[in-house]
Amino acid sequence: MGRAFVYVILGGGVAAGYAALEFVKKGVSYGELCIISDEPVAPYERPALSKGFLLPEAAARLPSFHTCVGANEERLTPKWYKEHGIELVLGTGVKSADVKRKTLLTTTGETISYKFLIVATGARALKLEEFGVSGSDAENVCYLRDIADANRLVDVIQSCPEGNAVVIGGGYIGMECAASLVINKINVTMVFPEEHCMARLFTTKIANYYEEYYKSRGVNFVKGTVMSSFDFDSNGKVTAVNLRDGSTLSVDMVVVGIGIRPNTGLFEGQLTLEKGGIKVNGMLQSSNSSVYAIGDVAAFPVKAFGETRRLEHVDSARKSAKHVVAAIMEPDKTGEFDYLPFFYSRIFTLSWQFYGDNVGEVIYYGDMSGSAFGAYWVSKGHLVGAFLEGGNREEYEAIAKVTRLRPAIEDLTELERQGLMYAVTVSQKPAALPPVEVRASDLLLEKPLYAWHATAGVIIAASIAAFAYFYGKKRRRW
Ligand SMILES: Cc1cc2nc3c(=O)[nH]c(=O)nc-3n(C[C@H](O)[C@H](O)[C@H](O)COP(=O)(O)OP(=O)(O)OC[C@H]3O[C@@H](n4cnc5c(N)ncnc54)[C@H](O)[C@@H]3O)c2cc1C
Repeated sequence: MGRAFVYVILGGGVAAGYAALEFVKKGVSYGELCIISDEPVAPYERPALSKGFLLPEAAARLPSFHTCVGANEERLTPKWYKEHGIELVLGTGVKSADVKRKTLLTTTGETISYKFLIVATGARALKLEEFGVSGSDAENVCYLRDIADANRLVDVIQSCPEGNAVVIGGGYIGMECAASLVINKINVTMVFPEEHCMARLFTTKIANYYEEYYKSRGVNFVKGTVMSSFDFDSNGKVTAVNLRDGSTLSVDMVVVGIGIRPNTGLFEGQLTLEKGGIKVNGMLQSSNSSVYAIGDVAAFPVKAFGETRRLEHVDSARKSAKHVVAAIMEPDKTGEFDYLPFFYSRIFTLSWQFYGDNVGEVIYYGDMSGSAFGAYWVSKGHLVGAFLEGGNREEYEAIAKVTRLRPAIEDLTELERQGLMYAVTVSQKPAALPPVEVRASDLLLEKPLYAWHATAGVIIAASIAAFAYFYGKKRRRW
């Protein structure tokens, strides 16, 4: 049994949905495109699962957050795929791939062949067992990667009103889930080994701001330690979390967000891998010319950084999806993927955006005790990253633009003095970057002051924590 398609997308997540829309925009013919997904539903905006989906009232449910509503595009329901002649094979895993023969073998025993394959298999949540701790199967221990996990999490939340939760992990899943649990009136303790939350993106100073806010909402932090085991009742439910520092936390539920691993297994030994993902070139093409990779599973050249990175963010999934379709369907008209990493967050009443890279010296500006502040990262004399909490649309656009321009920064004091105005000014006059005046004395004075920030700037490695992004009731619920 088998079918053949010109284009096959393996995986049915964010990147697959955005690629499908782009294929249609570029005039894919009826019957040429097939999407295979082991999830039972059509592609959806995965970030909704830790935000609107977990709201106690008027929670987001499919079909409201199918792709591509997250980018204010069309909402692609199963009917849409049908109308456009796209074969949507749902609830079906691919169990092996043969890139030489250009075939995929599904769990139903079907062989699907392709001319072009786009791998969009995303990633899976790391399990506690991979760190030597057992108990993931307990009914009140939750992970959050797909819609099945999200449904389970909602059931567990509802089973313990005003109960106690421990959130394991201080990255974006941990932060977002903690916020959602608070909204659901659950008492939250966050446990993570780092000195502060969002350790791969935030500096200590930025993290402090958010931790203080979380504390004001009742969240308790236990930092610098990890869990070592669970205690269970006679029904196998977790009743306590034991920490390596010797303390014990009584719980009604546990949420685990300790990172993800890209789904590359089908291609190991067949395609070149790098940074834990499938290595692709600027056209998002892998070491096999018929196979492309996008989204969380792809390690692609980030021009701005001059190196290959694998990102785990929805914006990167959406944009790489759009680019790969152009690269395949219009190769002569398509240049290399030129992506500026972009992460954003809205948690409770807070809202921030980050562009670029968080390496080098950190220059803070604004009022960190108030509602608006930001930071620039300066590496090798150039502005390479920018962060802003509490900005407006124009200000976010300005920090995006200034980061893309990578202006030379010679005087850190002057940059600090200008603060957000520097980005606004540069973004308004991109052709003539206002030089930041060099004063040797300032440099000498400022360097020691910023030295600790330099050590706090952490390289975004195989992945970077995304961000807690919570849509309040007045915002979109996905
Ligand atoms: C709860 C949550 C909240 C998030 N919030 C944010 C946020 O606020 N901001 C942000 O930037 N990013 C966020 N992210 C990250 C973002 O969702 C991902 O970067 C994005 O989903 C990546 O898209 P993708 O298509 O590469 O992978 P995915 O969306 O994970 O899709 C991969 C798909 O492939 C399928 N698949 C895998 N292997 C197989 C196989 N062998 N056979 C068939 N199908 C297979 C999977 O089941 C899945 O459907 C969040 C992620 C999660 C889990």
